[in-house]
Amino acid sequence: MHIGFIGLGNMGAPMARNLLKAGHRLSVCDLSAAAVAALAEAGASACDSPAAVAHSEAELIVTMLPAAAHVKAVYLGEGGLLEQVRPGVLLIDSSTIDPLSAREVAAAARTHGNPMLDAPVSGGTAGAAAGTLTFMVGGDAEDFERARPILAGMGKNIVHCGDAGNGQVAKVANNLLLGISMIGAAEAMSLGVALGMDARVLAGVINSSSGRCWSSDTYNPFPGVLDDVPAARGYRGGFRCDLMLKDLGLASEAARQVGQPVILGALAQQLYQTFVAQGHEALDFSAIIRLYNKDNHP
Ligand code: NAD
Repeated sequence: MHIGFIGLGNMGAPMARNLLKAGHRLSVCDLSAAAVAALAEAGASACDSPAAVAHSEAELIVTMLPAAAHVKAVYLGEGGLLEQVRPGVLLIDSSTIDPLSAREVAAAARTHGNPMLDAPVSGGTAGAAAGTLTFMVGGDAEDFERARPILAGMGKNIVHCGDAGNGQVAKVANNLLLGISMIGAAEAMSLGVALGMDARVLAGVINSSSGRCWSSDTYNPFPGVLDDVPAARGYRGGFRCDLMLKDLGLASEAARQVGQPVILGALAQQLYQTFVAQGHEALDFSAIIRLYNKDNHP
């Protein structure tokens, strides 16, 4: 299939490469000429704007952009995708944005005669490179079935979450819980160790008891508990604190829009805001455990 791909950053570039590997033809664009050149070298056709992607033969266009403002600019802006694209071309936005913005863009796309899916991902850059992402997809069931084989070239788990925006709802709810549970795991581990317990023994008890969660058994924030997690390598790599802060902000904003309280989510957002303001934005989000130690090092 001929596919358009807009946004070749940390996630988009490896996703686009996997589509090439799966045998698709690609027309790509990004604000970064270097990012476009790298994909062109791998076999994609270079485009200099979203409009140029729209004017290619692409039957389906994927976008992977930083935030809602970029998504709205690319789809709704002057000379943007919706103004230029042929009716019937399937549009898939995989960026993580708030559900209401996703619904707004999908409704505008429908008005232009283009079906649209929101399909945010989890799995990080490693999952993007390995083609093992989880896609949480919102939109019509028929459009979902049309997109599924394409998404399968980039991911392993492809879940239809309901109508437009519900992919973003699933993503926001999951990452809200992840942010809160990571802080919970950090707090409990720090307390146990401060009271004299060995971190590995404590984690073993928690992980076979009712406190067990992904943040404690798969991604424990206390150094020395698990190998091959960011805590074992100075919190380098993984999922950056500023991205977790962005996702908690999306949860707060979405909650405000429907008048739903997110009490622990707001607290988690403030803790990540504090940590990021201290200059730790590039560390993995499990580094939040450093807030529990006076010299910021557990
Ligand atoms: P990134 O900043 O590395 O890449 C975004 C790309 O979009 C950049 O290359 C940028 O130049 C391009 N871009 C911005 N505006 C554009 C425009 N108008 N036209 C063309 N290109 C434009 O971001 P990323 O890490 O690839 O993340 C993309 C999305 O995926 C974000 O919404 C993020 O929250 C989400 N996400 C990221 C991760 C992760 O681990 N990085 C994991 C899951 C989800």
